[in-house]
Parts: sequence; structure tokens; C-alpha cells
Amino acid sequence: MLLYNSLTRTRDEFVPRTPGKVSLYTCGPTVYHFAHIGNLRTYIMEDVLDRYLRYSGNEVLRVMNITDVGHLTSDADEGEDKMVKGAKREHKSVMEIAQYYTDAFFADCKKLNIKMPDVVEPATGCIDDFIKVIEGLLEKGYAYIAGGNVYFDTSKLKDYYVFNNFKEEDLEVGVREGVEADNNKKNKNDFVLWFTKSKFEDQALKWDSPWGVGYPGWHIECSCISMKHLGETLDIHCGGIDNAFPHHTNEIAQSEAYLGHKWCNYWFHVLHLNTNSGKMSKSTGEFLTVSLLESKGYDPMVYRLFCLQSHYRKNLVFSYENMDNAKVSYQKLIQKIATLKEGGEVDQSAFDELKKGFTDALDNDMNTSLAITAVYNVLKAKCSDATKLALLADFDRVLSLNLLEAAAAVRAAAEAEAKAEHAGDPEAEEIEALIAARAAAKKEKNFAEADRIRAELTARGITLIDTAQGTKWQRN
Ligand code: AMP
Ligand code: ZN
Repeated sequence: MLLYNSLTRTRDEFVPRTPGKVSLYTCGPTVYHFAHIGNLRTYIMEDVLDRYLRYSGNEVLRVMNITDVGHLTSDADEGEDKMVKGAKREHKSVMEIAQYYTDAFFADCKKLNIKMPDVVEPATGCIDDFIKVIEGLLEKGYAYIAGGNVYFDTSKLKDYYVFNNFKEEDLEVGVREGVEADNNKKNKNDFVLWFTKSKFEDQALKWDSPWGVGYPGWHIECSCISMKHLGETLDIHCGGIDNAFPHHTNEIAQSEAYLGHKWCNYWFHVLHLNTNSGKMSKSTGEFLTVSLLESKGYDPMVYRLFCLQSHYRKNLVFSYENMDNAKVSYQKLIQKIATLKEGGEVDQSAFDELKKGFTDALDNDMNTSLAITAVYNVLKAKCSDATKLALLADFDRVLSLNLLEAAAAVRAAAEAEAKAEHAGDPEAEEIEALIAARAAAKKEKNFAEADRIRAELTARGITLIDTAQGTKWQRN
């Protein structure tokens, strides 16, 4: 499989360190508010990666953190803790907020068929792990104490800006509007490993440490949680593109300084979902959540399809017009699948050929848009319905669009509608049994019996109408 690697800036052949075993780390949500559908785009595309690696025969161990402390209003360790802000907004405690929005996050994931990671670890459960690594960094001379906080010294590294040839002045992260620069820092991109002093004295959760009572920085959380569960090396680290700098850059700096060797081989970044007016936000404009989409009549699978129709390395623009198009595509797709008849033989050579179209697409830097085209190619192909159904079930192990379940629901609804049409007809049950017997006879290619049943019904004044969803009937 070719995968774009932000570290090498090329599409590299993906080779796990141990053949057949993949360690995968995903930056989890900061649980101070609902996830917006932009955040969820990232988790959907990471889910496809995870599922495809398993589909291709790998054993995957996937770890996700929950950021419930230390992520400040600015990613560059300035401002107030987002969790404290959330708690104040809702007049609740930080832990109440964390629990509520963690549950809400996984409820959204469930609706979108985003699989639970194998390990989910809240940062507040790993304080001892953070302290151990920070102590190690201080011992090795990569960290320093200033003004009560512990900082990572980025000048100790040969190559700090690993992802891009950023210009130094573009990286002046601490100096943004409304955020004062931290004068304790020796270098402008040094970052906090442990806070004991902050302008915000109302930090809710604090722990004892060798440097005083305080709390961890955001970046150290992901490094330590990954090492705790996946060991000293990592195959793939995922996140949204905004995480590349400073978050992931800092993760690499501190992990490799601590370990003394290369840590993670592949960095998988998902580009953003934007609105027509720009960046998606939790604080301004309409706050786009899965529940909001549902309230406007969009099934979460429509949003999943919308995401899969475009490549993860391209920005995606959200609009209701785009959602309407995705809704029509999804409905048409499911209607078409609902017409496929169960039973019969799978044609193995057609199966293998059509499957190749699907795996070639995903092997090419996870081209999900071409993988969706492979689904349409199955529907257009000249092979048996059994082959098509087997392929769709196989592809949906990765796509997870409920293709067969939604089609079954369409068929059940059509049957219920037909039943309701004849409610009160004393012969309805008997007529439907005859129609079912006719369908069974046709399937067995016993056309004489099928014709006999039709003739019997015609003689009783009943007309049969064969439709894609099955046979309907009416009295003349
Ligand atoms: P947060 O909860 O803010 O820590 O973000 C959760 C995930 O969503 C991270 O991987 C971010 O990089 C990602 N993310 C944030 N905004 C967007 C967006 N507009 N589109 C896609 N991913 C995003
Ligand atoms: Zn992270």
C-alpha cells in the first residue's frame, strides 16, 4: 500500500516494523464541547485507514487519547485550559464536562460507523507516565525549568521542523493576537511539558510533581500514551493537518529526545473540512454536528459517503447543497442494491477482478473516491447478483456505509407498504403466499409452475405487477 507520509513528503510504500502487525496512534478529541463534523471527517478517514489495514490482513493495535487536561486555547501553550473554559460555560465540573463530551463523541462515532479504537486513554489517568518522561528529558538536558514551568528546549535538536520547510517567522506561534508571549521560554518554539505557574489560577485539576503542584502540557500526553501502549516505536500516527505543527512536531521532538532513536515512521494527516466562509469553528457561525445534520434530515451515512467521495489529502467544502447531492447519491445507491436478488452462485473470477479495482484504489494512498467508483462498477457489471452482493459485503467491511443493511431496510419498507395497501382484504395472506411460491418457482427456473400460479391469480381477477423491489398485486 502506498501512503503519503508527511515526514518524507512523498507517497511511500507502507511497511510495518513487524510484518502483519501495525501500531496506530490517533490524537483523540479535546472533550470540552461536541465534535464538529470537521473533526469527524478526520476520524472517518482514520477509521477507513484502520479498517483497510485489517482488511488487508494486518493485525492492528490502535490507541487514542482523550484530552481532558492541558490543551490550552492556543496550541502554543498560551491562554486558558479549554476544559476549564468548557466547565465555566456550562457551570459544571471539569470531570463532568469530560465525561459528558467523551460519551457524546463516541455516540457520534457510533452513528458514523467509526470503530472504537482498541485502547482509549484519558490523559488524566496517565500523570505518572508524563512525570517519568519529563524527568528523563530534564536528566538528558532537553528540558529546563523557568518561572515554575518545565519547558522543552527546541534549540537542542538538529532538526526541529520536521514536516515542512516552514519559514521561521511563520512559526512564531506564541505571538498571536490576544495572546501574550511567554517570557520564560528560551526559544520561541519551546513548549511546556509541565505547568505549575499559569496566569489562570483557577486550573481545576492539579497533581503533585517533582516541580510542584501543577498539570501536564498537551503535547506530552500523546507521546506518553502512545509509548505506554505501543512501546518505543510506532508505525503510523494520525491526526488532522492542523496537528502537524506544533502538536506533532513537539511530539516527535520530545519522544525522540527521550528515547534516543526514531519513534514513528509514517505520519498520516487529514486535510480540513471548511465552510464556504472558511474554517469550521465551534465558537462562531452554525455549529455543525452530526445531530444537527440528522435534525435536517441527513442520515449519518450520507455524511460518511460525502467524506469518502473525496480524497483525504484535499480540503473539502461543506455546504447543504453538497449534502443534498450526497443524500441523492446514497439513496440511489441503496435503491439499486435493494433490487439485487439473494441466492445463487458467486462467480469467483468476476469477484476477483472487481475486487482488484477496489483494492487498487485503496492501495494508492487510500483513494476512497475511486473505491466508491469500484462500488458503482460492481452494480454495472455483467455478473450474477450473488457475486455483486458478495462484493458489496466485502467492500463494506472497509467503507462501512451500511450498504446491505440499508438495502434490506428499503426492501422491508416496500413490503410493509404493500401489506398496508391490502390491509382488510380477507384473501391478502393467501394471495401473498401464492406470489411467494411463484417467486420461488422462478428462482428454481420452474417457469411452468410460475406461469400456472400467475394464470390462477388472473382467473381470480388479480393482476401482478413485477417491480425491482418485488411483485405487487391489485384487484381488477
Ligand atoms: P480537537 O478535538 O480540537 O483536539 O480536534 C480533534 C481532531 O480534529 C484533530 O485531529 C484535529 O486535527 C481535527 N480537526 C480540527 N478541525 C478540523 C477540520 N475543520 N477538518 C478536519 N479535521 C479537523
Ligand atoms: Zn495528539
